[in-house]
Amino acid sequence: MTVSPFDTVAAVSTPYGKGGVAVIRLSGDQALTVAERIFFPLGGKKLTEHPSRTAVYGLVRDPEDDRVLDDALCTTFRGPHSFTGEDTAEIACHGGVLVTRNILEACLRAGARQALAGEFTRRAYLNGKLDLERAEALGNLLDAGNDEQVKLARAGMNGLLTSSAEAVYSDLMAVLANMEAGMDFPEEDLTEMPLWEIREAIDRAEAALKGLVETYRTGHAIAEGIPTVICGRPNVGKSAFYNRLVGREAAIVTDIAGTTRDVLTDTVSLGRVTLRLSDTAGLRESDDPVEMIGVKRAKQAMDEAELVLILSESSGPDSEADELAETLSGQGKTVLRVYTKGDLAMMAPIPDGAVCVSSVTGEGFDALREAVERAFIDGNLRMGEEAVVFSARQAAALRETAANLHAAAENLDAGLPYDICADDIRAAMSELGSLCGREMGEDVLTEIFSRFCVGK
Ligand code: GDP
Repeated sequence: MTVSPFDTVAAVSTPYGKGGVAVIRLSGDQALTVAERIFFPLGGKKLTEHPSRTAVYGLVRDPEDDRVLDDALCTTFRGPHSFTGEDTAEIACHGGVLVTRNILEACLRAGARQALAGEFTRRAYLNGKLDLERAEALGNLLDAGNDEQVKLARAGMNGLLTSSAEAVYSDLMAVLANMEAGMDFPEEDLTEMPLWEIREAIDRAEAALKGLVETYRTGHAIAEGIPTVICGRPNVGKSAFYNRLVGREAAIVTDIAGTTRDVLTDTVSLGRVTLRLSDTAGLRESDDPVEMIGVKRAKQAMDEAELVLILSESSGPDSEADELAETLSGQGKTVLRVYTKGDLAMMAPIPDGAVCVSSVTGEGFDALREAVERAFIDGNLRMGEEAVVFSARQAAALRETAANLHAAAENLDAGLPYDICADDIRAAMSELGSLCGREMGEDVLTEIFSRFCVGK
């Protein structure tokens, strides 16, 4: 099948399965024509004689043998006033698996092509209905597993990050225009902005970008989740702790040392943050080949971790854990000391900043949640009112833009010619443009939109 972005496409936009209602969406130049071939309003008027955005009741018929497939409601949207920006028809039918499939197949026989994963959203983006921030936020909204993720995704759909980036973009545009005027007509002294003003504008832009990048720690912790490792001596209570966090019996709890041989992973909501949790084998050398694999994977998980929960028993000192905490903090990881078995008699004093938990009674887990939130969530950030960076792509584009501006400032300070600095600024603007989706490569678009499933 050759696929063209100009095809009229169709897909079931509701989840697969039995439900009260299912929606089949058609989008493209021929969407209304295709809909008219299969949908027949009661009352005699043709579908397109009814006003847009009004649900019309009628029968869905197979275009080949005219048999009635269902009675349904059809709503039409004339482009550009639709989600995709194209002509669109949405047929809300009875939500049976077979009924829905029959109607979709009728749409395909009447001239539509099956939509690819994320194709409706991609078309909305290409038609300027949705910028990349909103598209990514929409993906996050559909994937959201907790209220905080919903809140962040809804904030992203307001496009605050794009607005902030656009503001910096137009400031840089002004700087560039001034520099170029000076370059093209040096003898005329056309540069309206003196050098110090250009320099200040660059600093301001760089500071604004860095401010945005700082919000990524919070956005990342909520939207993407923090890669987290739990470690500690054998039998310290890692599996029991992991199970308490995850809320089910995912790891096998035993009192035989070295029984957790693999790295389990789970995504867990802990208050406002999401943890991508690895429960690692006790980090110790072993002769057992199976356990060695576990240890190797554990080391890899540790390398990738941003948060390390180091578990120690409450009943005595743990110099190994002290050392590990120091090393990992030195590597820039966030380390949280957790003392286990808090329901048993305690002998070791709990250091400042550490939490004491019991995986048996659940005590201490609120304090754990607060400690993790404190470490990752910027309490001053007003979600929904301020831009929050919530994807690695956005953060990378902003960091790259800031780096280009930094180079521009350094080159200006070093007295290099304007055209070299102008190149740095152009590079910065191109990066910033990619953040807003101005000049986006096909591969990046595919990567973003393939996250969506068919029908979205
Ligand atoms: P791991 O080897 O670090 O994964 O440790 P486990 O989670 O398998 O626990 C080792 C032993 O300690 C088991 O017998 C658990 O029942 C016990 N244990 C774990 N957590 C607690 C706790 O919070 N309180 C008490 N009383 N016992 C615990």
